[in-house]
Amino acid sequence: MQRPTDAVVIGAGFYGLRIALHLRESLGFNSVVVFEKEDAAMDRASYVNQARVHGGYHYPRSILTAYRSQVNFPVFVREFGDAVVDDFEHYYAIARTLSKVNARQFELFCARVGAFLEPAESEVAELFNPLAVEAVYHVTEPAFDSRVLRRVLLDRIEVAGGIEVRYGDRVESIEQAGETDIDVHAQSGTRRAHAVVSATYSELNPLHRRSGIPTVPLQHEITEMALVELPDELRKTAVTVMDGPFFSVMPFPSRGLHTLSHVRYTPHHRWRDDELPRELDPHEVLASLPAVSRYQAMRADLLRFLPGFVGMEQKDSIWEVKTVLPKSASDDSRPILFRPDHGLRNYTCIMGGKLDNIYDVLQELTILYG
Ligand SMILES: Cc1cc2nc3c(=O)[nH]c(=O)nc-3n(C[C@H](O)[C@H](O)[C@H](O)COP(=O)(O)OP(=O)(O)OC[C@H]3O[C@@H](n4cnc5c(N)ncnc54)[C@H](O)[C@@H]3O)c2cc1C
Repeated sequence: MQRPTDAVVIGAGFYGLRIALHLRESLGFNSVVVFEKEDAAMDRASYVNQARVHGGYHYPRSILTAYRSQVNFPVFVREFGDAVVDDFEHYYAIARTLSKVNARQFELFCARVGAFLEPAESEVAELFNPLAVEAVYHVTEPAFDSRVLRRVLLDRIEVAGGIEVRYGDRVESIEQAGETDIDVHAQSGTRRAHAVVSATYSELNPLHRRSGIPTVPLQHEITEMALVELPDELRKTAVTVMDGPFFSVMPFPSRGLHTLSHVRYTPHHRWRDDELPRELDPHEVLASLPAVSRYQAMRADLLRFLPGFVGMEQKDSIWEVKTVLPKSASDDSRPILFRPDHGLRNYTCIMGGKLDNIYDVLQELTILYG
């Protein structure tokens, strides 16, 4: 066997790449190997998401998540400014019925977490159906281009040196080797490492199962992001209607389109790993299901609120598994999962619910290895 490598990161999504850089640049690991089962980096959740750099507005039922977004958001914008897209106006509207938050509560919540908010200009408010919407606000919340983000990260990895990213190389299992090292059994063979970090997002449990270590409670959703083109006069507009079974239209810069997602129609299937007699492999579930779009239902609901969007056209839909901690299902919070020494000495499994959670993860890794 080769000499042990300092660290192995499993998964080359946004988390895996950024963690590899942190281990190498900030925590003194000289050799880091990243294993990625797909043929390219950031092709799974880190691509098929809504491309929103969360400013906290989404989480009126979880002050802590909203507050962490307010703290992490400017750090993300500073670090990945090249990938941040903010040349559009974003409006949050509060629905009159079924919303879990009313206008007054939303204003108080934004004031509490320090999130910028102002009443929308009257010509924008007129886009909304006043019978369906209580209030419309102008907010500051950008998008990101995941392809630019990938390029920035891979360029930095090349400059840093000492990080090998291995594509098309799935990690089958991991096992303790001696007191502290870990053997990482990948398709290409086995590597021994002093530290292993798994950043496999929805695929944490299949790896744990194959390795005979405890699984973690996770909830998965097969999600559809409809990609739409807006009429010219609306191209620089994004809208989120809060906070019940509502919807969001956000720029998706890597395709030059917008995503449309709807809390009722975007999740096609939902399950919790620990509620089934046999845990399912989320990517296998996704691959086995027919991709039958629910765009028409999303559109019909959106037009009840925003009749002016009638010219919107579907161009495509993209699909991925969205994974959250079970607690998040009831309050929409997005805490991170960070478990050092999970089942094996020096094995850490992590899962972040949104991109800017990464800074909470890096902080925990610094405490662990700094
Ligand atoms: C539909 C949807 C919408 C979202 N919207 C937003 C949003 O608007 N804003 C936001 O901040 N966040 C959003 N998120 C969450 C965000 O996308 C994730 O928090 C983030 O992408 C997680 O990054 P990751 O690197 O952990 O996961 P991924 O990008 O999924 O990377 C994990 C990688 O691990 C690889 N892998 C898995 N198992 C193995 C193995 N055994 N061996 C080798 N490689 C393996 C996978 O192939 C994958 O490339 C959304 C997520 C989804 C799915």
